[in-house]
Formats: sequence, C-alpha cells, structure tokens
Amino acid sequence: MLKCFANTERREYTISENAAMKETSSDDIFDVIIIGAGIMGSCAAYEAAKLGKKVLLLEQFDLLHHLGSSHGESRTIRATYSAPHYPPMVIESSRLWEEAQAESGYRVLTKTTQFDIGPADNRSLQSIITNCSTNSLALKVFDNSPNNFPALFGFR
Ligand SMILES: Cc1cc2nc3c(=O)[nH]c(=O)nc-3n(C[C@H](O)[C@H](O)[C@H](O)COP(=O)(O)OP(=O)(O)OC[C@H]3O[C@@H](n4cnc5c(N)ncnc54)[C@H](O)[C@@H]3O)c2cc1C
Repeated sequence: MLKCFANTERREYTISENAAMKETSSDDIFDVIIIGAGIMGSCAAYEAAKLGKKVLLLEQFDLLHHLGSSHGESRTIRATYSAPHYPPMVIESSRLWEEAQAESGYRVLTKTTQFDIGPADNRSLQSIITNCSTNSLALKVFDNSPNNFPALFGFR
C-alpha cells in the first residue's frame, strides 16, 4: 500500500500543520515514510510497496513538479564507470527500468551505444575497459586511426 501526499503551495509548515498529517488518522502507522518524491524517493516507495510494506511518500511540491533534479526530458544511463561497484548497479537498474516499463506499458528507455574517448594510457579509461569485461558488457576498443573516426579527426 502506497499513500502519497504532495503540497502544491510552497510554504513553511510544522509537523502539526502538515496537510499530510491532518489527512492521516492517528492510528495510521506506516512501515516506511519517505520524504521527497523525486526519482529516488518514488522508486524507493514503489519498491517498498511492492514488498508489501505500508508506505507514506511525502512531497513538498506537486507531483511531477520541475523543481528537483529528476525533472527534464531526458537522462543518460551508462555502465561505463571506472569505479568497479557502479556497473553491477547499472545492470540492475537497467533490469528495474525494463520491469517498470513492462508494468506501466510506457516506454521511456532508449538504448544506444555509449562512446567514451580518451588517451589510450588514461587510467580511468583502462579501468572502464576492465570493468566492462568483468561485467560481460559488450565493448569495442578502437585505436586512434583516423579511419575509425573521420568526423572527429576532421576537427584537429
Ligand atoms: C541538470 C541535471 C542533469 C542531470 N543529468 C543526469 C543524467 O544524465 N544521468 C544521471 O544518471 N543523472 C543525472 N543527473 C542527476 C540525477 O538527475 C539526480 O541524481 C536525481 O534526479 C536525483 O534524484 P532525487 O530523487 O535524489 O532528487 P530530486 O529529484 O531533487 O527529488 C528530491 C525531492 O524531495 C523533495 N523534498 C526535498 N525536501 C523535502 C521536504 N523537506 N519535504 C518534502 N519534500 C521534500 C523535493 O521537492 C524533490 O521533489 C542530473 C541532474 C541535473 C540537475
């Protein structure tokens, strides 16, 4: 079960004045209360509710407002990180996006090729290559031959 309260007016309020608290009866006890219905709070609330938890999601603005970090027409998701703990999380998030799309019937994810570029001896780039291999991510390494990227080398 997931309850969500959002305020459309921006104002200072105390717990006792909070509209959400007024509409919630005193015997309403939640397993999980999340403050902030951005992508992080919304996904956390969704997953907790799917686990059968009674969840309260509180948002200071209206839902789908444009005042947080999550708004906007597009975001990129990439697995090419030099830190080794990122790719497994990105692979898991990809699975969750697919699942959310299937459940909602709404497609938001468009998979494209990720292109990372840098000096061949760059340690960060080398770590990315290692991490891709470790996590069985499809990868193609190009050398700096102008034949590979005629458009890019045209700008030198
Ligand atoms: C311009 C821009 C581009 C980005 N591009 C990318 C990208 O391409 N790829 C990528 O992976 N990441 C990108 N990011 C980062 C990513 O968007 C953010 O990390 C992510 O959206 C953060 O989500 P969030 O839910 O933590 O925060 P938010 O979306 O900001 O949500 C926080 C919510 O909490 C609410 N809130 C805060 N305080 C309270 C309170 N006291 N009471 C009630 N509600 C409260 C806020 O109103 C807000 O709705 C980008 C960020 C920005 C700003």
